[in-house]
Amino acid sequence: MTLADPVTRTALITGVAGQDGMYLARLLRSQGWHVVGTVRPGLSSLARMAPYLGGVQIVEHDLRDGLGFGDLMTRFSPDAVFNLAAFSAVGRSWTDPELVTHTNLIAVGQMLETLVRHREKNVKDVRFFQASTAEVFGSEFAGALHEETAHRPRTPYAVAKSAAHQLVISYREHHDLFACNGILFNHESPFRGRQFVASRIAAAAAAAACGQRLPVALGDIDIHRDWGAAVDYVEAMRRMLAHDVPGDYVVATGTTHTLRDMLNVAFASVGRDDPEDHLEIQPHLWSTTQAESLRGDPSRAERELRWSATTSFEDLVAQMVAVEVERITSGVGESEKYLG
Ligand code: NAP
Repeated sequence: MTLADPVTRTALITGVAGQDGMYLARLLRSQGWHVVGTVRPGLSSLARMAPYLGGVQIVEHDLRDGLGFGDLMTRFSPDAVFNLAAFSAVGRSWTDPELVTHTNLIAVGQMLETLVRHREKNVKDVRFFQASTAEVFGSEFAGALHEETAHRPRTPYAVAKSAAHQLVISYREHHDLFACNGILFNHESPFRGRQFVASRIAAAAAAAACGQRLPVALGDIDIHRDWGAAVDYVEAMRRMLAHDVPGDYVVATGTTHTLRDMLNVAFASVGRDDPEDHLEIQPHLWSTTQAESLRGDPSRAERELRWSATTSFEDLVAQMVAVEVERITSGVGESEKYLG
């Protein structure tokens, strides 16, 4: 029996109240999985995401609590662990590198070690997914980035994610763990946190459409990013753990757009051609450690997992703006109908 079989299997998703955690939990639930999702004690975004997490067994767990993770493994004996929780804001990672390192690296090492001990107790082999990132590649390169591209991380976030990525490979090779890195390029949805730029652009366009003004402050609007839809990317995560061999996969669209494109598409989706009037260029928001362009080469995932992104950039941005308009006009912050 493999994880591809549609029988009741248990998945443990860390960070289930984050954007990806929510989409992945819904995907697995729709395929008959029992899903246990962890949320950060006290400060979690669960209050916001609860309407989307019906049927998910929620437990409080701080990722940095390694012993607590062992207790979760004993209590729920999951077949798969998807580690999505993280200090996920790249720019802000300079504010508390120690917290970032603990959350994004040390916790991953503790989890991998726990999985080895779990197996030694002859409990069962557990498959492990780690949310790696395009940020591990840094900012100096040419062409599309692939699984063998060297890491040159340039922020505390990227340094921690890069080391966690290497740990996953080490544990796979040394301990024969079924452990995979999904090298995720930027992906968005109407449920992306407001600290992220695509979400702020969508909110600004929606506000303009509703006769309001919510200026969006940006650094450099000519940076290129490979933007995809979270709903597509969680399918790639699922396929990685359902595959017969573990590996690392770039999860990307293979095409890039600029922030300027995103602004134009967002405003055009609500019939506006004046995005510049709602833009505040703030050069200090531009960081020298930020890449000018990030483009992924998803051909390994296409070939081996039969996965490819299906949502277009235009549809993604338009959906984000449409949900923001709904939020403003209805006054309802979260609703299942926003899932589309
Ligand atoms: P997200 O919405 O920020 O979700 C991350 C979740 O982790 C949040 O719910 C957060 O809880 C939780 N968390 C943070 N610190 C924690 C701790 N100490 N203990 C327990 N939970 C903690 O991020 P996402 O967009 O879903 O991304 C999922 C994963 O993919 C992350 O690992 C991220 O680094 C990675 N990734 C994302 C992208 C992207 O474009 N979205 C790209 C590359 C990689 P709170 O709400 O309480 O803070």
